[in-house]
Amino acid sequence: MNNFISNWLRPDIKAINAYHVPPSDDMVKLDAMESPFPLPDALIEQYLAYLANVELNRYPSPNASELQQTLYQLMDIPADFGMLLGNGSDELIQLLALACDTGDSILSVEPSFVMYQIIAKFTRLNYHGVELNENFEIDLPAMLLAIETHQPKLIFIAYPNNPTGNTFDRAAIEQIITSTSAMVVLDEAYYAYADDSFLGDIAKYPNLVLLRTVSKIGFAGLRLGLLIGTQDTVAALDKLRLPYNINTLTQVSANFLLKEKDEINKNAQIILKQRTKLSSALDAINGLQVYPSQANFLLFKAPSAHKLFAFLKANGVLIKDLSTAPKLTDCLRVTVGNAEQNQHFINLVKCFYD
Ligand SMILES: *Cc1c(COP(=O)(O)O)cnc(C)c1O
Repeated sequence: MNNFISNWLRPDIKAINAYHVPPSDDMVKLDAMESPFPLPDALIEQYLAYLANVELNRYPSPNASELQQTLYQLMDIPADFGMLLGNGSDELIQLLALACDTGDSILSVEPSFVMYQIIAKFTRLNYHGVELNENFEIDLPAMLLAIETHQPKLIFIAYPNNPTGNTFDRAAIEQIITSTSAMVVLDEAYYAYADDSFLGDIAKYPNLVLLRTVSKIGFAGLRLGLLIGTQDTVAALDKLRLPYNINTLTQVSANFLLKEKDEINKNAQIILKQRTKLSSALDAINGLQVYPSQANFLLFKAPSAHKLFAFLKANGVLIKDLSTAPKLTDCLRVTVGNAEQNQHFINLVKCFYD
């Protein structure tokens, strides 16, 4: 780092390791929970015609109300809940952190989605992570104690959890919600692949909000996430949203593409079938342990995990190496791809252990 920026930068930011996205050109990309499905050919011409009418000389619609309606439909969200859109759900995590006061704390579980902690650092909030137990379940007594001790302002719970893939015990989460004056944020990034959701519980718990995203259902490139909560909560948080945070190309594209509810649901069903197949195939390999998943990825424990990761990478398949992460010794995470990608991956894993 040159002298100017080194002297200029906040010391705590200087100390952070940048969020690393590995290069993936020409690789089979099974590392980031993206959907393997491209836009259907039949839609492309119509989509381009729709885009041709866009007025890029104008600012976007300020609250993207047309797109909001499309999202209410796509995700069956009751009309009396409020919705706040973000440039990815990451932006909404940041917005929630910005709503906190100096000295406030964010609470989550470990291991979970790393952005909760990273954003806490950016915004100078305290962060506390309560370790999950051996089955990757919430340690409820430890969580309740942490709530008591730290009096958090925000509690993030990914449901299903990333990187472990499970949904936590519903009763434990309900007890957390009712034991705190914090806003409890259930991050349902993987809702399309899960058996359960807290969408129906928003009316019951005033301190509950949900995050969702279109990133894991086929549209990671759009950068579009949503927060769902009561109208009052959403109206208050909306003050912190930057004007025009959802650009016109995202609004128009999402509004067109997310109307294809049947296609999106069909693709999710394919991923669920592939998840079952991939899980059995991995489980059948001697020495591997696959964890149950409610998401579009699988976490598995493998002998010489880091070497397996390197072998896959050398052979053009990129997954996520968690083998040195706390509580995840020898664990790797693979995104469920299409049938061909999954087979290719399995063949390489078998080859490695032969
Ligand atoms: C992928 C992921 C996100 C990020 O979603 P974006 O909308 O792409 O920013 C949020 N939360 C969890 C738990 C995730 O795994």
